[in-house]
Amino acid sequence: MIKQNLHTHCTYCDGKDMPEEMILTAIDKGFDSIGFSSHSYMHWNGRGLLPESQRDYCTEIRDLARKYSKQIDVFCGIEYDMYSDVDISDFDYAIGSVHYMDFDGKLCGFDRDVKAVREYIKDHFGGDGMKFCREYYNLMAQLPDYGEFDIIGHFDLCVKLNQKIHFVDEGSEEYISYAFDAIDALKGEIPFFEVNTGCISRGYRSVPYPIPRILKELRRQGFGAVITSDCHDSTFLDCYYDESRELLASCGFREIYVLTRDGFVPSKI
Ligand SMILES: [Zn+2]
Ligand SMILES: [Zn+2]
Repeated sequence: MIKQNLHTHCTYCDGKDMPEEMILTAIDKGFDSIGFSSHSYMHWNGRGLLPESQRDYCTEIRDLARKYSKQIDVFCGIEYDMYSDVDISDFDYAIGSVHYMDFDGKLCGFDRDVKAVREYIKDHFGGDGMKFCREYYNLMAQLPDYGEFDIIGHFDLCVKLNQKIHFVDEGSEEYISYAFDAIDALKGEIPFFEVNTGCISRGYRSVPYPIPRILKELRRQGFGAVITSDCHDSTFLDCYYDESRELLASCGFREIYVLTRDGFVPSKI
């Protein structure tokens, strides 16, 4: 089975390690391939891959891909936030993510800390966590309008802090209906989704994104799965990988998808 991680952040955005350090760790950990997915630049808050660094990023990743081509495949990608406004045509692949909501020009992050998320739910949704999640999935459904993406990023990111500050019942029919509406909207638009274990390595959740009920619906609707760790620290490059394969198998998946030099191909679990 091919071992790959397409969702990694390095020192070009908010990751801890230099690209070459991550490649060497990936080789050590037995990866067949690694993809870099720096955050796209957000002019709202100045975060992400700076416009003046984008060319350097692509050049450095592609130079490293050549340097290590006999040991590992290296891809140059981007994690694009739907409120970014950058050209992503140069990248080998793109993850489409919803990190923010826009309140009259003020960006509020779905994946911020406990204090911020509590405040957003109180100030903008009358204290109703379900409405906070509904807004997230409404935005998720609009993702294809913002670009061509290969992978849906952390499908249920809105519940990142739900195990810490319970604000919604993830098993309720209402919550599931909003998530399923987003799946309907994304069908035929973005072919793959990720089982993203970043919330485990950072101690927010005991299970990866997305929850099994959503995984089963994604399978039923024909989306392909990739496994990633949304890695910001190379120590966690393959965090919860074996468990994620078992999780996918238990939800009926027989294969995951991996990016190769010939595009995405299935690989048996
Ligand atoms: Zn993200
Ligand atoms: Zn990420």
